[in-house]
Amino acid sequence: MPEFQTMTDQNYDVIIIGAGAAGLMCGATAGYRGRKVLVIDHANKPGKKILMSGGGRCNFTNLNSTPANFLSDNPHYCISALKRYTPQHFLELVERHGIEHEEKAAGQLFCKDSSKEILNMLLTECDWAGAKVRLKTSVRTVGTTENGYQLQTNAGTLNCESLVIACGGLSIPTMGATGFGYEIARQFGLTVLPTRAGLVPFTLHPDLKEQLAPLSGVSCPVDVHCNNEHFREPMLVTHRGLSGPAMLQISSFWHPGDSLSINMLPATNLEQDLYQLRKSRPQSTVAQYLMLHLPKRFAQALNDLHGWAGPLQGYKNSDIEQVAGALGQWAIKPAGTEGYRTAEVTLGGVDTRQLSSKTMAALDHPDLYFIGEVVDVTGHLGGHNFQWAWASGVAAGSYA
Ligand SMILES: Cc1cc2nc3c(=O)[nH]c(=O)nc-3n(C[C@H](O)[C@H](O)[C@H](O)COP(=O)(O)OP(=O)(O)OC[C@H]3O[C@@H](n4cnc5c(N)ncnc54)[C@H](O)[C@@H]3O)c2cc1C
Repeated sequence: MPEFQTMTDQNYDVIIIGAGAAGLMCGATAGYRGRKVLVIDHANKPGKKILMSGGGRCNFTNLNSTPANFLSDNPHYCISALKRYTPQHFLELVERHGIEHEEKAAGQLFCKDSSKEILNMLLTECDWAGAKVRLKTSVRTVGTTENGYQLQTNAGTLNCESLVIACGGLSIPTMGATGFGYEIARQFGLTVLPTRAGLVPFTLHPDLKEQLAPLSGVSCPVDVHCNNEHFREPMLVTHRGLSGPAMLQISSFWHPGDSLSINMLPATNLEQDLYQLRKSRPQSTVAQYLMLHLPKRFAQALNDLHGWAGPLQGYKNSDIEQVAGALGQWAIKPAGTEGYRTAEVTLGGVDTRQLSSKTMAALDHPDLYFIGEVVDVTGHLGGHNFQWAWASGVAAGSYA
């Protein structure tokens, strides 16, 4: 394990603010190039989000990651870095460190044991590369000097040629998230695009919340649509609203006031099935049909919500169309989201039009770099966000 930096040395080639996924990756990369590197963090521990990620087992990459898995106002920006450092590269690193892993859903790689292994691997890499990590260090101001940057911190004055901003986004403030990276960007004249919570559960208006409350903890596969995007993944009802992969994914495309359209039975041909059933077993009910495809509690609650009663033989074609529509395009208008408190990521951030896609540095300040979640590149759920942290960290670390 590396020792954490406590010395009073104040001059570095590279200082990285943020000892998270992107910052540690960048630190090791720059250190291996022979640069004298210091990674600082205001928290008492490095990589807290790595530790809590993937339910404690860190979904550290996605083998199928492509630029199409990222949202940005400038979608081409991420392509170069993602091409130069691929999921396969990170997997090789993980395997070199003997970390056992498994593929859960298609392409999603998780640690078999614990997220701690990924954090320890990054800290070990920093140690081997000679990059120091100093915790509990808060930056008060950042100024420029003839040779680079000067930071006033609670641990004294620090100087560096290259400054890398890797302090993440606003999600989970209790884990040390701050808007500091955006402040630095603005200080140096960069635009910060509006931010909002992404990969976050939805909250519901009181009536629907009450109706769905008995289903808390029940999950079922759905196909959810919003703003020309859709995800076919499980949805989970919680005591606060709607969550699960389908809802987290679509939340990144949702804006306040938008409705979601949920196909509760994406694997069926609903209307045809119901016509067929009315003909072959006219005494069966919609509830019985639903129970063939959904968890029993969910089927009953959905049925009750819509008030479907009586055998199918009493249903006119227009009634069947209505049932199929209600189940195939269940329109829900969320009250909102749980916000940054529980969001996995922050959408928006430092405008990438003002950054070099080769080095990640500001075009007008070639020794000031922005990497990871602080920039306007946000991945889908499933290991893409860490892949961006690794790729952007390596890109900046190769030049800083
Ligand atoms: C609950 C949860 C689960 C997740 N699971 C996954 C997953 O399984 N797979 C995946 O790909 N992504 C996952 N993510 C997203 C992923 O964690 C982030 O995309 C990733 O950590 C971003 O890396 P980063 O280095 O940019 O920022 P961070 O990892 O957030 O690191 C930023 C660092 O900067 C420090 N910092 C902040 N402000 C300051 C300041 N003013 N001064 C000094 N230091 C500062 C913070 O303390 C932190 O250590 C998850 C996120 C959450 C919240």
